[in-house]
Amino acid sequence: MSENKLSGLPKMDVLLARPELAECALPYALVRRAARQALEEARQALRSGALDRAPTAAEAAAWALALARAQARPGLRQVVNATGIVLHTNLGRAPLSPRAAQAVSRIAGGYCNVEYDLRTGSRGGRTARVEALLKDLTGAEGACVVNNNAAAVLLMLSVLTPGLGVAISRGELVEIGGSFRVPDIMARSGARLVEVGTTNKTRLSDYAAALDAGAAQALLKVHPSNFRVVGFTQAAELEELGELARQRRVPLLCDLGSGALAAGPFSGEPTVEEAVRQADVVCFSGDKLLGGPQAGILVGRAACLDRLKSDPLFRALRLDKLSLAALEGTLMDWRDGAPPPAAAMLGADGDRLRERAEALAARLAPLCPCEVMESPGQAGGGSMPGVSLPGWAAALTPAEELERFFREWATPIIGRIHRGRLLLDVRTLLPGDGDIITAALARWKEGRP
Ligand SMILES: *Cc1c(COP(=O)(O)O)cnc(C)c1O
Repeated sequence: MSENKLSGLPKMDVLLARPELAECALPYALVRRAARQALEEARQALRSGALDRAPTAAEAAAWALALARAQARPGLRQVVNATGIVLHTNLGRAPLSPRAAQAVSRIAGGYCNVEYDLRTGSRGGRTARVEALLKDLTGAEGACVVNNNAAAVLLMLSVLTPGLGVAISRGELVEIGGSFRVPDIMARSGARLVEVGTTNKTRLSDYAAALDAGAAQALLKVHPSNFRVVGFTQAAELEELGELARQRRVPLLCDLGSGALAAGPFSGEPTVEEAVRQADVVCFSGDKLLGGPQAGILVGRAACLDRLKSDPLFRALRLDKLSLAALEGTLMDWRDGAPPPAAAMLGADGDRLRERAEALAARLAPLCPCEVMESPGQAGGGSMPGVSLPGWAAALTPAEELERFFREWATPIIGRIHRGRLLLDVRTLLPGDGDIITAALARWKEGRP
């Protein structure tokens, strides 16, 4: 690498004096930082050989301006999810229903009665309304909400089983993602992990033996929500475990993970209603199959829930008012028989999806090579593993070029590349997304020679 290539780089003051930068309406500090970054990136590209000549002052200014504009925008942006993965954790899991989203925006910019009782004019309970909805929906005696389901598991074990041996199947010592591992969370809670059974087979008698030997004083069932063990397998059903727990008078706790309500289109998933009938406490996520905001929901026996709510840890893990507003809206949707968007997407009819893919492809076909392809969808977000949903996509070429163009578009559009085509799966598209995609593609076409 020759030093004279580096010396060809424009000087900082020359760069900042360029009209593109001097006359742009962005804050000076931001522009200066972007200019410094552009020069640094150019220097590294010259050193590594990625560039073979120094950029001109005009080129470097254009690059700095693009960086400055990107930094002036909020980092967290709306995107179009065209992956067909409904609860895509990288894309924010569940989209809120219009009712839930409106509830958030009404509360966000002003004051609200989060802890104020409008009937008595004095301090009120923070979550009474959400708890009442949860009890009605699940049939539980008691309910409470925390920041996410990982927090719910931590709270449940820390308050109800500290110092106790907790029997759990070796097949359920799972990692949920983001280094949330059941054995670690149990260690942190002060509960003692008592592994029973084997990876592929655990019988009811394995749990009974752990209780009889005095090793365990509580039972934990973790729904393996993000993987499926197939072949020579066996697990104790929640119903049998419930019977065992009642017989031996020990608590049964259940981390259900995705939290399917019976009213939803979630075939093969254990429902919250069933789990509540068997376990003392059941916890699940607010933003998986429930289709609401990030939250951890705990439902079960009133005496247990009261203990959870009076523990100092509960205060540390509490849900904020915006999520509370979104959760209330989501639960009202379920109550009114109008499941939120994620549930509707998961239950979408294959033929209807095909029609929607055909309609999208018809709009896009004048702009780029495009056809309709079958595209199996997934729940994602650690829900309904191994379940492939019949789905359809508009398939575009050139795949790589379009993938990048869409990702860098004003409202980024995220699809997936499959066999040389960019698939835009219609299952996860929301109202208005078709217009965003069409506008982006029209601009792409304009920019082509
Ligand atoms: C997803 C999941 C969690 C974590 O829930 P978050 O709401 O993401 O914190 C815990 N346990 C199980 C079984 C899960 O599937």
